This record gives sequence, C-alpha cells and structure tokens, in this order.
Amino acid sequence: MPVDSQSLRILSHEPMGRDAYLLRLERPAWSWRAGELVGIIGPAEVDQRDYTIASGERDETLDVIYRLIPHGVLTPFLQKRRPGETLRVLGPYGRFVLRDPERPILFCATGTGIAPCRAYLRTHPTLNLTLLHGVRHPEDLYFREEFERAGYHPHCSRTRLAEAAERITDTLKTMELPENAHVYLCGANEMIYEAEEILSNRGVAFEHIFHEPYYYRAID
Ligand SMILES: Cc1cc2nc3c(=O)[nH]c(=O)nc-3n(C[C@H](O)[C@H](O)[C@H](O)COP(=O)(O)OP(=O)(O)OC[C@H]3O[C@@H](n4cnc5c(N)ncnc54)[C@H](O)[C@@H]3O)c2cc1C
Repeated sequence: MPVDSQSLRILSHEPMGRDAYLLRLERPAWSWRAGELVGIIGPAEVDQRDYTIASGERDETLDVIYRLIPHGVLTPFLQKRRPGETLRVLGPYGRFVLRDPERPILFCATGTGIAPCRAYLRTHPTLNLTLLHGVRHPEDLYFREEFERAGYHPHCSRTRLAEAAERITDTLKTMELPENAHVYLCGANEMIYEAEEILSNRGVAFEHIFHEPYYYRAID
C-alpha cells in the first residue's frame, strides 16, 4: 500500500502516567495493519518522527501514545497541540506486524513500546498473549486495565509494586516460555539486545524473534 500524507484532526489528547500522552486522531482514509507506524510531521518538514499506531485495525480512531522528551524536537511540539487542531501524518508503514495471530505470542515492552501490543490485542481479542511490560513507576503501566488478565506481567524498576518484578530480562531468564511462541520485543534498545541474548541461550530460534527499537542509548 502506498504511503500517504494526510492532515488528521485531533479528537482528544490526554496525559497518561507520569510523562506520556494518548493522542487520539480521526481515522485516516487509509487502513493499517496492527503493528504499523505513522510518521508525525512537525512544523518544519524535517521534524518527522515514527509512532506505532496503538489502536486496532477496526477502531474508529488512530491512537498514538508518546512519551514527552523535554529536550526532544517533536514531542514538546506535540504536547502543545489541542483537540480540534490538525496534525500532518504520513502512513502507514513498518514491518513489526503480527506474523501469525494463531500462535502464542510473548510480547516484551518497555514504556510506550506497549503500543503495538495494544494494536495486536484490539485487532485479535482472543490472542494467546503473554505480556511482560517494564516501566519505572506503576502509574506508567499504560492500558493496564486492557491487559490485566492471565499472562500479564508488570515490571517496575524504580518503585516497588507488590505483584511486580523489577526487570523484564530477569523474568525472561527464569519464566516458563510459552511453547512454540513468536516473541516480539519493543522499546529501549538495551532491553531488546539483552532479551535476544537470553532467548537465544534458552533455545528460541532467531527467526521466531521480532524487534522494534524505539530509541538507542549507548551500551557499555
Ligand atoms: C519504529 C519506531 C516507532 C516508534 N514509536 C513510538 C511510539 O509509539 N511512542 C513513542 O513514545 N515513541 C516512539 N518512537 C520514538 C519516536 O520516534 C521519537 O524518537 C520520540 O518520540 C522522541 O522524539 P523527539 O523528537 O521529541 O526527541 P528526539 O529529538 O528525536 O530525541 C531526543 C533524545 O531522546 C531519546 N529518546 C527518544 N525516545 C525516548 C524514550 N521513549 N525514552 C528515553 N529517551 C528517548 C533519543 O534517542 C534522543 O537521544 C518510535 C521510534 C521508532 C524508530
């Protein structure tokens, strides 16, 4: 499908957790596959950033969840946008789509990396999903009420939460891996690299692991 640019009206724009926002846009003329992206364009044409569509394929709105990066280029501009205004959006594109909805899925996300998982589950409500979500504080367990059912494992690294472990990668080392699963890793590059190594050591085939890094931090 060709990538198209459109101006989409902001329907709502609400804070989520400590420093993230849920941006709900009118549905574009094109359809998307769960896991695909849009590019949101800032005031200068060069200020374009990728965001996973966090709504399902049949939802009436195009949702994006973003974390405000105060020193960033696009998110401070985004944060000032109000319902009724429009945003230029390019899409859909990307390859982090659900390969096989019939297979068990192990999804590991840090922070807003939960977005594709929400799109998968809203599109395929009966998905056999095990989800490890890692955040700093419990308030940042975005969409918790939508995921809270069997197979949901919250992780909080900075604030203790009775039922939560601290690090996704520690859980990955010891948990019983769902048999025959496809594994999806999304968010911080550190988590992705570490998780891939652990999964590989535990015998998960390379071709059963898919990843979508959102940002890179130097690793010592
Ligand atoms: C394929 C893809 C999909 C993405 N989807 C999403 C999404 O759904 N939601 C979302 O919030 N972001 C997503 N991102 C990240 C997004 O594209 C922007 O990089 C991010 O919103 C920061 O934009 P900015 O212009 O404000 O900051 P920039 O000027 O681009 O970045 C400033 C600095 O902040 C770092 N940074 C970027 N994101 C984070 C973060 N979350 N935590 C800590 N540091 C960060 C950057 O590496 C850079 O060093 C995605 C990135 C990619 C590559």
